[in-house]
Amino acid sequence: MHSIEKSPDDFMEYARMHGFGDVHFKVDPATGMRAIVAIHNTNLGPALGGCRFVTYENTNQAILDAMRLARGMSYKSALANLPLGGGKSVILKPNTPYDRAAYFHHFGDFVQSLNGQYITAMDSGTDVEDMDIIAAHTPYVASTSLQGDPSPYTVQGLLRGIQAAVLFKLGKDRLTGLHMTIQGLGHVGYAIANLLHQQGVRLTVADTNAAITARAVSEFSAREVSTAVIHSVPCDVYIPCALGAIINDASINEFQTTVIAGAANNQLEHIRHADMLHQKEILYAPDYVINAGGVIYAASQYLDTSESAMHEKVNNIHQTLLDIFQRSVTEKQTTCAIADRIAEERMLISGAG
Ligand code: NAD
Repeated sequence: MHSIEKSPDDFMEYARMHGFGDVHFKVDPATGMRAIVAIHNTNLGPALGGCRFVTYENTNQAILDAMRLARGMSYKSALANLPLGGGKSVILKPNTPYDRAAYFHHFGDFVQSLNGQYITAMDSGTDVEDMDIIAAHTPYVASTSLQGDPSPYTVQGLLRGIQAAVLFKLGKDRLTGLHMTIQGLGHVGYAIANLLHQQGVRLTVADTNAAITARAVSEFSAREVSTAVIHSVPCDVYIPCALGAIINDASINEFQTTVIAGAANNQLEHIRHADMLHQKEILYAPDYVINAGGVIYAASQYLDTSESAMHEKVNNIHQTLLDIFQRSVTEKQTTCAIADRIAEERMLISGAG
């Protein structure tokens, strides 16, 4: 489920192989809006997942993106013990002028037409204002301006995940004195740098934005390196918080860390890289487990669960990861294989793809 794939020749067969679910299409003739909603699995509840508004090379790429991400959401919600399934949507961003408000209005109608099977939320290229427009047309939307930014909860979960990995791999219940590297100092990366600095962690950081790295150097006494080498700096924990596919054929032999535990989505370019990390005895915290704090928050807002129950679920990322790490050793399988299996057991589906 982690690999970045080429468009399949036969989407129906791809859907069958990967355990879908439905895929819905919408073309609005008046505005030209074209959208896809992919619903992977609803065994545990309605499918929650964000709406991307980005440019695609072609429609097949958009379908594949929606389906791949929808499947990822099923696994993420199952591992986080949420009563939700997995879905995702994309609105194809045109290269020509368009009416943004009208697009999200019609997208809201599209979501409403699915009668609550799919709940949408913010993702790449969409913001709370877009969610507010959608909310005027359907109640099946999370991350509106009333609900706010989920990043602080992603950061909380990430910290608990890093603590679990350090406890398991290095036998330490405190982070003080460790050296960690952070790639990407955005909403998640900067906030985790702050928390780690407060806990006495020595930091090396990289971001394409020079102003942000300069701030981290001054506020957290961090060392700055270029984005081209951050993954290869010797350290205790490498924390990817920028791009996907940073664990790839080129980087795999350059890591000099004992743990990789970051928030970036889809960190493995291919599932074989999980095997390679396992062989190298680098402990990998599966991305969709460690970065689930944001979806736990969005779900709690949507489902109106108590704040304490939400915090407990974010906190549980620690124990979930410890269980995965332990099973990985006992069963001699990668942490990704174990995480996928736990999710599949909870969803009552057999492993696919
Ligand atoms: P963001 O856009 O706020 O920050 C990303 C940062 O990475 C930016 O500062 C950008 O300049 C930097 N960057 C871009 N390319 C880089 C490179 N090659 N090397 C180093 N830095 C680079 O994003 P975010 O909200 O902080 O999310 C970070 C990652 O975590 C993303 O992969 C996102 O999908 C994932 N994630 C975020 C959340 C959340 O709640 N924000 C939840 C789950 C997963």
